[in-house]
Amino acid sequence: MEMHTVCKAGSRGMLTNPGPILLLGAPGAGKGTQAKILMAEWAVPQISTGDLLREMRKDPVKSISPLGQQIRQVMDAGKLVPDELVQAIVLERLQQPDTVKGYVLDGFPRTLPQAAWLDATLASGPNTLPVVAVSIQVSYTNLLRRASGRRNCPVCARIYNLYFQPPLQDTVCDVDGTPLAQRADDTEEVFSERMRTYDVLTAPVVAHYRTQGRFAEVDGELPVGEVTQAVIDAIVRLRS
Ligand code: AMP
Repeated sequence: MEMHTVCKAGSRGMLTNPGPILLLGAPGAGKGTQAKILMAEWAVPQISTGDLLREMRKDPVKSISPLGQQIRQVMDAGKLVPDELVQAIVLERLQQPDTVKGYVLDGFPRTLPQAAWLDATLASGPNTLPVVAVSIQVSYTNLLRRASGRRNCPVCARIYNLYFQPPLQDTVCDVDGTPLAQRADDTEEVFSERMRTYDVLTAPVVAHYRTQGRFAEVDGELPVGEVTQAVIDAIVRLRS
């Protein structure tokens, strides 16, 4: 990858090639939302291991294999899929040509061994930029509401939140009246387990990037646009 270049003043991002960006944050901190905005901002892909694993679960062949069933059980319990498996999925994704200018990692690395693997993989590849990490901070109470209140329409895929963006009537979709569904790992019980997993396994990943000076923190309770601006400013600073 060529080194990042700076474009005209006035552009929100200033960077044209942002390189590998890592968004960190507890479940529900808004990593996915911010990753999608950055993706549009810099025309780079979002690489979400949660989404890639959910796609595998939907695949009619992979989902019924023993591995597919193991993944389902682990995810539904709020635990982590084995490092080697997630790393293999990420490696395959990083080899796609759309990653050349950079990409936004969302949900990976989530353990110290995954972080070490990523650093080593990038250092041994043609990519000249190391990962920069931005952590999105949200209080436990708000994280719980974001996760346990989240509902989606199984027909039109519209997303609601019973606390922050409720449907007009009960728990049915405003658009087509379909009863709303909840992701299996958004229940309060699974949320608590995911938070425990985050505290034990992912907090050291934050420390890893912080120690290396490739790390910034932003307030994830601000309005979405302000969080985006803070994330972009942090990335530009870390790349300068
Ligand atoms: P997410 O949508 O990022 O919250 O991920 C949903 C679930 O997928 C997690 O609770 C884990 O079971 C699994 N998962 C996603 N990313 C990883 C990862 N980097 N390492 C291990 N498991 C993961």
